[in-house]
Amino acid sequence: MKQKDLLYTGKAKSVYRTDAKGKLIVEFRDDITAFDGGKKDVLAKKGSYNAEVSRFIFEYLEEHGVKTHFLSMIDERRMVVRELAMVPLEVIVRNVAAGSIVRNYPFKEGTPLNPPVIVIDYKDDSRHDPMLNDDLIIALGLTTAQELAKIKTVALEINRLLSALLLKQGITLVDFKIEFGRQGRTIYLGDEISMDSMRLWDKKTGASLDKDVYRFNKGDVMATYNNVAGRITGKKSPAQNKR
Ligand code: 5GP
Repeated sequence: MKQKDLLYTGKAKSVYRTDAKGKLIVEFRDDITAFDGGKKDVLAKKGSYNAEVSRFIFEYLEEHGVKTHFLSMIDERRMVVRELAMVPLEVIVRNVAAGSIVRNYPFKEGTPLNPPVIVIDYKDDSRHDPMLNDDLIIALGLTTAQELAKIKTVALEINRLLSALLLKQGITLVDFKIEFGRQGRTIYLGDEISMDSMRLWDKKTGASLDKDVYRFNKGDVMATYNNVAGRITGKKSPAQNKR
């Protein structure tokens, strides 16, 4: 398969057309951003850690019956995916109160949310991703009521599967953001699931194991990503083997 022209470039990934019908290539770049792009850096190897974790999670979810856009890897930072018409929603599932819901509502950080809370934002940087509700999503024509129900069911199933996977590695899945797209009438999980899109806490120490390390200058971002990628995928990277 040949990589063709650039279709779309986001804050941390680029999407390319290919010569294969219905297939695209997603490249995970080393760019890292936070606060609506207000903080930006380039961190060597970051793209490959996120690509590897996304691949591992997409394969794990597929094995458990979740339809994802993932098809195969080309190299350590590029994956072949199904071409989807993306739904401009950021679907966030929360198991523990943290981040924006602690800033915006009277939750105490660390409070368990049981059952999990789903928050859906409108994916539009120019509007700073405002929070939606079901009526707004349907009034805006972003999904049908049926599709929205399906998206929420799949999001909760992903949460159940991922929480169990991470817990085995001593990691609490605090919250995560996912995006969906359509191919025909079928809804697929798209985008990525990585340390950039999950909030992860070490179960024993409570330490942040995700992009919060970058957002809030909590330590060595790439050492954290390297370590977490190894824990999640069960593979030790060369840097870890040296220790
Ligand atoms: P919060 O709303 O607390 O800022 O974020 C909740 C969760 O969704 C966090 O795990 C965060 O990383 C993820 N998230 C929210 N918005 C975005 C976004 O625009 N991009 C990415 N990659 N993740 C996001």
